[in-house]
Amino acid sequence: MDATDMGSDLQQVLITEEQIGQRLDEMAAQIDADYAGRDPLLVGVLKGAVYVMADLSRRLHMSAPMDWMAVSSYGSGTKSSGVVRILKDLDTDVTDRHILIVEDVIDSGLTLSWLVGNLSSRGAASVEIATLLRKPDAAKVEVDVKYVGFDIPTEFVVGYGLDYAERYRNLPFIGTLRPEVYGG
Ligand code: 5GP
Ligand code: MG
Ligand code: MG
Repeated sequence: MDATDMGSDLQQVLITEEQIGQRLDEMAAQIDADYAGRDPLLVGVLKGAVYVMADLSRRLHMSAPMDWMAVSSYGSGTKSSGVVRILKDLDTDVTDRHILIVEDVIDSGLTLSWLVGNLSSRGAASVEIATLLRKPDAAKVEVDVKYVGFDIPTEFVVGYGLDYAERYRNLPFIGTLRPEVYGG
């Protein structure tokens, strides 16, 4: 794979940079309204949620603190293993905190369902989810998601934080890759 020219690896742009920005404006306004006076802790899931966290949090009108977790459910491939491991835990004590998990994508829902249970068991006052993308047809477990950017088809996407084998996270939009890129 020669990934030095990302443009030629692309199959399709699904969601443009402008569409993402407009939707984040709406989501941030909703979050501002819902969390007024509650001082939420934003919890980003590394590494995919880095771009969503940066662009969503800077649209908020409250000085929301943020923390990060790294969990692994995928390895370097394109299929969920269903096994969640904590690679990096929070630095913050979440007892009695209102937590808003910030995610890039919900696919099977296995990772987030596990994460919500994990954070709730630490005594959080509330745990809600904001995700840029959701694949409704891929859900294996029911997860209650309060803020969804876009529902997308059950396809493997990259860009705006989402990787394939650690590449393509820095594309400013959401897209799909040509099959040849996967060595398929
Ligand atoms: P789930 O546990 O919901 O199946 O998947 C959770 C994680 O798998 C996501 O946070 C993301 O890191 C990864 N993932 C799921 N779907 C995609 C996708 O279409 N593209 C990429 N790059 N990662 C995905
Ligand atoms: Mg993620
Ligand atoms: Mg990944």
